[in-house]
Amino acid sequence: MSEQSPLILSGKTVAKATLMRTRQEVQAMLAQGHEIGLCVVQIGRCAASSIYVNRKEARAKKLGFISTTLRLPEDVSEEALLEQIDALNANDGVHGILIQLPLPKHMNEQRVLDRLDPKKDVDGFHPINSGLLSQGRGTLIPCTPKGVMTMLEHYEIALSGKHAVVVGRSNIVGRPMAQLLEKSNCTVTICHSRTTNLEAHLAMADIVVAAVGIPKMIQGEWLKEGAVVIDVGINRLEDGTICGDVDFESASKVASAITPVPGGVGPMTIATLMENTLRAAQA
Ligand code: NDP
Repeated sequence: MSEQSPLILSGKTVAKATLMRTRQEVQAMLAQGHEIGLCVVQIGRCAASSIYVNRKEARAKKLGFISTTLRLPEDVSEEALLEQIDALNANDGVHGILIQLPLPKHMNEQRVLDRLDPKKDVDGFHPINSGLLSQGRGTLIPCTPKGVMTMLEHYEIALSGKHAVVVGRSNIVGRPMAQLLEKSNCTVTICHSRTTNLEAHLAMADIVVAAVGIPKMIQGEWLKEGAVVIDVGINRLEDGTICGDVDFESASKVASAITPVPGGVGPMTIATLMENTLRAAQA
């Protein structure tokens, strides 16, 4: 067990730095007479989604983007939504489009996301953007894993030749995370719900990224001494508190560096969305 406290990787600090960098580039574009438009599409009025949508809109406005939210009723048809997406694709004043997920059950999420103009897909979920990422030449990269890479870079965590274990293989977090780490010359293992003996994989990991959605699943005893632990999980417990997928208390006795939840990866997601919107406008 490590006697030293781990380095706490603060997403709040890195998000602030990322937003400051983005703001400088935005100011330069605005000074040249360019405008940057972001449209968030929200279907229904789910309270949790509304919080995220409002935060994104507020942050975008603060940066100087023209930020709009297209709110459609819960029972809007998929066809009507696709027509709205076509209109946003054709609108030169809109550089970034974000469809707030999850969509209502009557919609086919893949069909909806596939309809976005890949150049405006600031979430990086379109198959063209996933394909470019898998070839190592992505520009619109999913915000959460890209934000994790920004954090690792900020804290100068060495990646080349390290063994990274990513737990989770979703298109939003786990899979692109693994691709980005591999691009940075990590040797990557991807674990998922059918992985047998997760603990044996984690015991060999220099870097662990947890993106599972199970509160405090990963225990400190499973980790290698000195591992760098990135906890992407955001889980709300019955008492209303938020925790990650890693048991922070036991993991911080072993890790050399660890992200807290909240205040770790979370703030990076919105900051990276703003960065992606700027990149879409610059393209
Ligand atoms: P998904 O539910 O889409 O994916 C979860 C992944 O975990 C799947 O690949 C699943 O495997 C795997 N998994 C499930 N159970 C186990 C298990 N027992 N052992 C190993 N792997 C398992 O979730 P997301 O990727 O969207 O999100 C993951 C977490 O990250 C959630 O807590 C979410 O709230 C959080 N999140 C945080 C964000 C942030 O801004 N910080 C942004 C996005 C997500 P399989 O593929 O086999 O089903």
